[in-house]
Amino acid sequence: MDKKNVPELFGSLVFDDRVMRARLSAEVYASLRKTIDENVRLNNDVAEAVAAEMRDWAVEHGATHFTHWFQPLTGVTAEKHDSFISPSPDGGVIMEFSGKELIKGEPDASSFPSGGIRATFEARGYTAWDPTSYAFIKDHTLCIPTAFCSYSGEALDKKTPLLRSMQALNRQAKRILKLFGTDAEYVRTSVGPEQEYFLIDEEMYEKRPDLVYTGRTLFGAMPPKGQELDDHYFGVIKPRVTEFMEDLNDELWKLGILAKTEHNEVAPAQHELAPIYTTTNVATDNNQLTMEIMQKVARRHGLVCLLHEKPFAGVNGSGKHNNWSIATDKGVNLLSPGETPYENAQFLLFLCAILQAVDDYQDLLRLSVATAGNDHRLGANEAPPAIISVFLGDELTAILNAIKTDTPYEGKEKVVMKLGVHALPRFSRDTTDRNRTSPFAFTGNKFEFRSLGSSNSIACCNMMLNAAVAESLSQYADRLEAAQDFEAELHDLIKEVIAAHERILFDGNGYGEEWVKEATEVRGLSNLKTTADAMPHLLDEKNAKMLIEHKVFTKTELESRCEIMLENYVKTVNIEGHTMVDMVRRNYLPAIEDYLFSIAQATAMMQKVSKNVKCQFEISTIERLSELTDKILERVEDLEAALQTLKQCDDITESSCLVRDEVIPKMEHLRIYVDEAEMRTGENYWPFPSYGKLLFSVH
Ligand code: ADP
Ligand code: MG
Repeated sequence: MDKKNVPELFGSLVFDDRVMRARLSAEVYASLRKTIDENVRLNNDVAEAVAAEMRDWAVEHGATHFTHWFQPLTGVTAEKHDSFISPSPDGGVIMEFSGKELIKGEPDASSFPSGGIRATFEARGYTAWDPTSYAFIKDHTLCIPTAFCSYSGEALDKKTPLLRSMQALNRQAKRILKLFGTDAEYVRTSVGPEQEYFLIDEEMYEKRPDLVYTGRTLFGAMPPKGQELDDHYFGVIKPRVTEFMEDLNDELWKLGILAKTEHNEVAPAQHELAPIYTTTNVATDNNQLTMEIMQKVARRHGLVCLLHEKPFAGVNGSGKHNNWSIATDKGVNLLSPGETPYENAQFLLFLCAILQAVDDYQDLLRLSVATAGNDHRLGANEAPPAIISVFLGDELTAILNAIKTDTPYEGKEKVVMKLGVHALPRFSRDTTDRNRTSPFAFTGNKFEFRSLGSSNSIACCNMMLNAAVAESLSQYADRLEAAQDFEAELHDLIKEVIAAHERILFDGNGYGEEWVKEATEVRGLSNLKTTADAMPHLLDEKNAKMLIEHKVFTKTELESRCEIMLENYVKTVNIEGHTMVDMVRRNYLPAIEDYLFSIAQATAMMQKVSKNVKCQFEISTIERLSELTDKILERVEDLEAALQTLKQCDDITESSCLVRDEVIPKMEHLRIYVDEAEMRTGENYWPFPSYGKLLFSVH
């Protein structure tokens, strides 16, 4: 692909605003625009006109099929392709696509997880067009971004609650802006997700059943070189990887995804891609597509892209940073400290709303990123800890302190922080040192939520974040709307919020043991270490009440989601456990046995040659390896027993606890002995490629 043509390439497979404006009649365009910007219902004539143009455009670009593209609760995206072809009376075919087909689809979706919703209500679900996210062409198929619901209207996907949460935040933020006299038709959140991933050689990958079945290695001794040299981070990108990245960029650009930066990450074979931020629901669609296309493009280069949070034990895992901000339709970023004291007061109120939201709903944020894969990162010495806290940087922290205590602010301008809005000081953006260990950090004009796993959909944390912030804003709006003296009330409110929620602020080292102690024992913050611990909090009364009040979820949806997420957790670990048993019994034990046999034979022969031959290496190896095979057998039987118990358990909460308390610890125990055996067995006998080969073979 000729690089000079990027502007032409960019978005060439997207039915975006440029295409709509060029191809739709002025009337149809205006009406669709109203739907996109203001959520106004689309009428049938407009839908017909849009569908006809979309079909012509898609056919011109080589599409033969269309699909409603949606995000079921399984974590991947789903699509069911229908062709445009329809028989014509003359025996030929015509390409057809109606407004009805554009707006609504009825996938036979009975095998998507619903946590019992569809069984209780209606057997089938339907998909509905989300006109705020552009349609695009992928693999000769016109993909129409949609939401997925049951017939009774319960959401069966991740997009519906996300859109609802954006509406909730829009409603409440507008109330606040009105109080400040800020002009805004609507308010939207934007996200720029930084995506980490590993790239390994396809040939090596295919030889590892653990990678193929579970996306991560379940065994593997550390190579002599890990990431101790830190020579990979921002280092020179290897030629094969460069080719992959160029190809990936082209594919993403065609889909209108603004892939912007790429660099090597800390671990060997680890990389990162960041797009330019955009409206949250679009960013979510784009991130799902990015993950899919990364995997596809990697294969074209004989590589495999691993999106698992922890593909290699002992090596840095992969996360995703959710850079999040709120802006008005006039392009004003509400998280950007303003130029005037008055603008700063508005900024401080939004800041307070976020602090309160994160503090009040720590558990929702934690559980929104909880998966079996991400449990390996959070709390380990690399990702943010499982405890959620906020980092603001020195300047903002000092300002909040000054407000709270009515004392002079000793900042650059040395302004007295006495009462009254107009006394708030001006402060510059981003004078802070970045704290890389903080899960939720202010970075100048946005917050960066860093607890996401690399494979998480960003929809999940954003729906929680938006809803929680909507809740604090609605409390503030209630109070300020009723105030006699707006400025005095505002000042008191900000002071109170800071005092009530400062426990969530933390600037120190999030990896230290002292922090865990202080956070949980002194500050009373929650420390939900695993998915099994976190997920049930979705149904806590305060959480359910808030999410229902802001119309993000119904009670039924919450119950079904909790069940599905726990089910995913249990299923994931169950597959891992069985894969381990299989690898141990059919590969590792026989391989060690072969090696033992060959040394034993050699020992016997050597000793026949001379009585003086000591065979120290042979004998000590045989002794330790045979000890290890005994232990491995014992451990694998233990794991099999735990998996059997799990199989017999039919309560999902109990199952998740069994996984946490029995299955996972037994998997870890088993691994220790197999990894030791790897270090003592001749390389040619070992049945699978080593960590060294997996991590260092792409050039
Ligand atoms: P880093 O965090 O590595 O310094 P940047 O700050 O440049 O990198 O941006 C990281 C991500 O944050 C990018 O995806 C970028 O588009 C996004 N981003 C930048 N500004 C905003 C904003 N106002 N709202 C949401 N995301 C943003
Ligand atoms: Mg970042």
